[in-house]
Amino acid sequence: MGTVLKDVQPIGGDAPVEIRFEGARFTAISGEGISPHPGDDLIDGGGKLVAPGFINAHTHLAMVLFRGLADDVPLRVWLEEHVWPIEAKLRPEDVYWCTLLALAEGIRGGTIGFADMYFHTDEVGRAVEESGARGLLSYGIIAPEMDEKGRSEIEAASRSIGRWSGVADGRIRAAISPHTIYTCGEDVWRAAIETAEELGVPIHTHVAETRHEVVEWLEKTGEGTVPYLERIGALSVPMLAAHCVHVDGTDIGILANHGVTVAHCPKSNAKLGSGIAPVNAMRDAGIPVAIGTDGAASNNRLDMVEEMRTAWMVQRALYEEPMKPSAADAFDMAARAARPIFGLEPEGLVEGGSADLILIDREPLHVSPRHDPLATLAFASDALDVTDVLVDGRWLMRSGELRTIDAERVRFEVEGLRRRYNN
Ligand SMILES: [Zn+2]
Repeated sequence: MGTVLKDVQPIGGDAPVEIRFEGARFTAISGEGISPHPGDDLIDGGGKLVAPGFINAHTHLAMVLFRGLADDVPLRVWLEEHVWPIEAKLRPEDVYWCTLLALAEGIRGGTIGFADMYFHTDEVGRAVEESGARGLLSYGIIAPEMDEKGRSEIEAASRSIGRWSGVADGRIRAAISPHTIYTCGEDVWRAAIETAEELGVPIHTHVAETRHEVVEWLEKTGEGTVPYLERIGALSVPMLAAHCVHVDGTDIGILANHGVTVAHCPKSNAKLGSGIAPVNAMRDAGIPVAIGTDGAASNNRLDMVEEMRTAWMVQRALYEEPMKPSAADAFDMAARAARPIFGLEPEGLVEGGSADLILIDREPLHVSPRHDPLATLAFASDALDVTDVLVDGRWLMRSGELRTIDAERVRFEVEGLRRRYNN
């Protein structure tokens, strides 16, 4: 038994289509109408927009706990006096509840997949599995040397990969995450690269986020950040590189040559005063640039529509360029560029492809009148205009109601954690 979704408007077209899915796959997508099979559910899409869902290509989901906590202090003070003391005390189940809150917020706004990096990854995995969303999970390795601590960090990462890689019919994937080049020593990086090769997983890391880190690394070692990553072999395995704010032409050439996927986090980079990544130049060089929110502590939302809007706005401002990125470029970054790293077909919404989609309301005043659907979505829509989210043939949200996460319970639990840790 399948489902036929009638009267939905694809963002790239000008006529409504019908979509049939059965199990986890789309079996038909047609503008000519689809004959339902006996027993199929029929759903009237009411002329809503239909699109592949967004993929949040870099985040630390459980950090929603720190949303709005000491937003206007220097980074070092914020970490040392506010975040690290709480993180040191977090219990595994705290990470579970915070991750669920973040997933609920993301799914509510049309995000179907999340590339997460944190600790207590079994709890992150449990939350992602229950939510029905897609996840690329990793344990954030921090170790200056390959001593006892270094070995136990690599072991924790390997264990997490073994536990979560391919779980939930492949909805959940795993990566290995040496945190940065300056928080993990070269031996630790080499061990992580070896593990990535052995276990067949990508590396998900932070690259060239701040000018300070890039300049300091160059002064200390005489080598650029990206050339260093290339020399130690980190780019010889598939890589998802968050930020890439301070990369020059040489770096961009190297990243392009190695097929690195960049996770651009414009709001986090702006909030933390890190700068603006040269996304247009990276895209011109052929680098797939995806979009991520980073953790809620540095955003403070997990809203991919707002993130997509910020991405095209700041690129146009940075390059004084009124046409690039286009609406199509912005949507590709937010919804398509990270799909291959999640094991999904690049386009989304194709016959035989995985049954993932979102429906978006076209009635609100801020999206009227109905000109180009793609431009409306990229430039004017709000995340709360998303009404329905389907992942792997399962509805995670219908008519604005979350189906897999008890939002009230989650809010209650996380509010309890705020009181517990803020005293
Ligand atoms: Zn990050």
